[in-house]
Amino acid sequence: MSKIFYKTEEEIDLIRESSLLVGKTLAEVAKNIKPGVTTLELDKIAEEYIRDNNAIPGFLGLYDFPNTLCASLNSAVVHGIPNNKPLKDGDIISLDCGVLKNGFYGDVAYTFEVGEVSEEIKKLLRVTKECLQKAIDVAIAGNRIGDIGYAVQHHAETNGFGVVRELVGHGLGRDLHEAPEVPNFGKRGNGLTLREGMVIAIEPMINMGVRNVVQDKDGWTIVTKDGKPSAHFEHDVAIRKGKAEVLSSHEFIEEVLNNKN
Ligand code: MG
Ligand code: MG
Repeated sequence: MSKIFYKTEEEIDLIRESSLLVGKTLAEVAKNIKPGVTTLELDKIAEEYIRDNNAIPGFLGLYDFPNTLCASLNSAVVHGIPNNKPLKDGDIISLDCGVLKNGFYGDVAYTFEVGEVSEEIKKLLRVTKECLQKAIDVAIAGNRIGDIGYAVQHHAETNGFGVVRELVGHGLGRDLHEAPEVPNFGKRGNGLTLREGMVIAIEPMINMGVRNVVQDKDGWTIVTKDGKPSAHFEHDVAIRKGKAEVLSSHEFIEEVLNNKN
């Protein structure tokens, strides 16, 4: 996956449509996140919503992944498989979702609080979201991939958190994972130059404790080595001059969350 596919405006329009549908799907799911619900129930809601909107769940069957959502609980970073265990008050659940529509993928992640979570966890979620925004702020034509990684790493580590290195953001288009890789760590001014027409998924994965991760026995779930919680937020972004265009949106989700409180 080394060739970069630069997108036309028409293609970017289609990726935006897919990306927005993922945000709306996660908003539909968000309505149902509460203690007692299972991630398999949430997965079903997501799959139905995507199919009702004439799209295909992007993860289901891809690399043989068994579900529509990746549902990663507490110390799970990413790639968790939905299951029958009820969520508990104080948990966090990271949901990552993709859709394929009109031949193009959208890919969005958001970490949700279940019931009332600790102040420490609230800080982890806030900082991870800030890392994503700081990365988007420097994702402009002429800057380098390393500028994105630096922005995430610097903000996370300044706050005492660990940055996962084994998993990275990526180009996005007709394939879910295209070149280039978009690491969440790096040096300013280093790496590939960002150019107009590139569409990338930026997705910081930030750990409350050490940055190290291990793979669970299930062969999918990536968990923190120290068992502390991890957060994950993801947007799809088109590289432009001066300011990145965020193609996806967390606003649908946050509208639901604000109405819950
Ligand atoms: Mg994703
Ligand atoms: Mg992704």
